[in-house]
Amino acid sequence: MPEEHVDVLIVGAGISGICAAYHVQDKCPGRTFAVLEARDSVGGTWDLFRYPGIRSDSDMYTLGFRFRPWPDAKAIADGPAILSYVRETASRYGIDRKIRFHHRVVRAQWSTEAARWTVEVERTDTGETIRLTCSFLFACSGYYRYDGGYTPEFEGTERFQGQIVHPQEWTDDIDYAGRRVVVVGSGATAVTLVPAMAERAAHVTMLQRSPSYVVSLPGQDPLASALRRFLPAKLVYPIVRWKNVLMTMLVFQLSRRRPQVVKAMIRKGLERRLPAGYDIDTHFKPSYNPWDQRMCLVPDGDLFDAITRGRASVVTDRIDRFTEKGLKLASGAELEADLVVTATGLNLVPLGGIAMSVDGQDVELPETLTYKGMMLSGVPNLAFAVGYTNASWTLKCELTSEYVCRLLNHMEGHGYEICKPRRDPSVAGEPLIDFSSGYVVRAIHEFPRQGSKAPWRLYQNYARDLVLLRFGPVEDEAMEFLRPEPRIESLAA
Ligand SMILES: Cc1cc2nc3c(=O)[nH]c(=O)nc-3n(C[C@H](O)[C@H](O)[C@H](O)COP(=O)(O)OP(=O)(O)OC[C@H]3O[C@@H](n4cnc5c(N)ncnc54)[C@H](O)[C@@H]3O)c2cc1C
Repeated sequence: MPEEHVDVLIVGAGISGICAAYHVQDKCPGRTFAVLEARDSVGGTWDLFRYPGIRSDSDMYTLGFRFRPWPDAKAIADGPAILSYVRETASRYGIDRKIRFHHRVVRAQWSTEAARWTVEVERTDTGETIRLTCSFLFACSGYYRYDGGYTPEFEGTERFQGQIVHPQEWTDDIDYAGRRVVVVGSGATAVTLVPAMAERAAHVTMLQRSPSYVVSLPGQDPLASALRRFLPAKLVYPIVRWKNVLMTMLVFQLSRRRPQVVKAMIRKGLERRLPAGYDIDTHFKPSYNPWDQRMCLVPDGDLFDAITRGRASVVTDRIDRFTEKGLKLASGAELEADLVVTATGLNLVPLGGIAMSVDGQDVELPETLTYKGMMLSGVPNLAFAVGYTNASWTLKCELTSEYVCRLLNHMEGHGYEICKPRRDPSVAGEPLIDFSSGYVVRAIHEFPRQGSKAPWRLYQNYARDLVLLRFGPVEDEAMEFLRPEPRIESLAA
């Protein structure tokens, strides 16, 4: 049977897949497209994670789509509200009809002769393998494994009589009311879980090996609340979005150039929020500079309130081993627990774990360089959506989607069939992300690398990317375009 062909194949139906589908549909109306999703629902991250208190840790004015204003007054929103927003967006624009659920892309093989990808798909419901072809492959597959989070090896877990759960595997039937809970970790998930669980648990202890920067932000944006009184929500959205973009960039740049100033500001905030005499140095003073790792945001200081009310506490120590009753720590102290939540991170995976080859040669991702933060050197007709680490994910994914549409339209207008970033041998490769967080360090060697200069460098800067991707030229020295007929000769040359 001939394989089905689509012009653009989008992998993933999370925020970035829905965003990509919207833009392809809107800006490239002549192109056929489909969205393949391994799971049985829309939403990706916001459907997978169900732990108590799940919420965004960046504001929805920038995590929301540019084309569809975030409708709620809450700037830091809970997981179910974000999930509804993504799902409603998919159905409002008819994207839901383009999604094929239970379709996991496992392999993609590019043929220059045919100018297309052959994509091997595993049906996660029936186990069947099917094949499709596409002219352009757009991976919107997130950045971490869905089949399990990261938990370090702890000694003695088999002895522990309570329950151990990773937040990625949280289910609604886990009862923590009146129980003693220990949350292991100090990242965004831990600081979300602790105040949420403290409402019903007997007590929640956040057990961290080392502290993170934790900053309180208003749950409702004060500017948005003020403007909403006399402006329609549609007008308020772009204003607050830009205010937040600029504020985030300012704090990031200040953190890089004047870390002492940012440290002092964070310290002041902590002193204001925490009880007098609280040991900030031990529990909230990291050894690294702000934004060397992602900063943790807490809405309206909810974590600090839970500590102040005595519902939660922080212990900075190392786990020696699990015991029958809880955890024995390196300091010799013991923590009794009925439930231990291991908020110890994700397992990162590049491009949805898809094995790729180009004209029979396997693509080794660490040997490729990222082009404009969305394509790969030596890999034709492929883009991927990866967001910012220092600002909302969607900001970059939306620019990427817009750019892919410009690229597709440019190719159509000029009769090109193939586009391929061509590596400049004088540009050295560097790690894609320079975060020192454990989850990044563990996996970054499996990812593509970035180059030392444009267009190979990942600037993590929305204003710069906006100029480059929305208005910058599509043709440049690094991008090779090929027309159908002479392509074989020109590739051989
Ligand atoms: C708990 C948590 C909170 C977060 N909070 C924020 C925040 O506040 N702000 C922020 O900017 N970022 C946040 N992030 C990062 C977050 O993941 C992104 O904001 C965003 O949701 C990612 O969207 P995505 O569509 O790119 O990826 P995902 O949400 O991961 O969706 C990817 C989709 O692709 C599918 N898929 C993957 N591989 C394949 C394959 N091979 N074949 C078929 N389908 C595949 C998956 O099943 C999934 O549905 C958070 C992440 C986590 C884990």
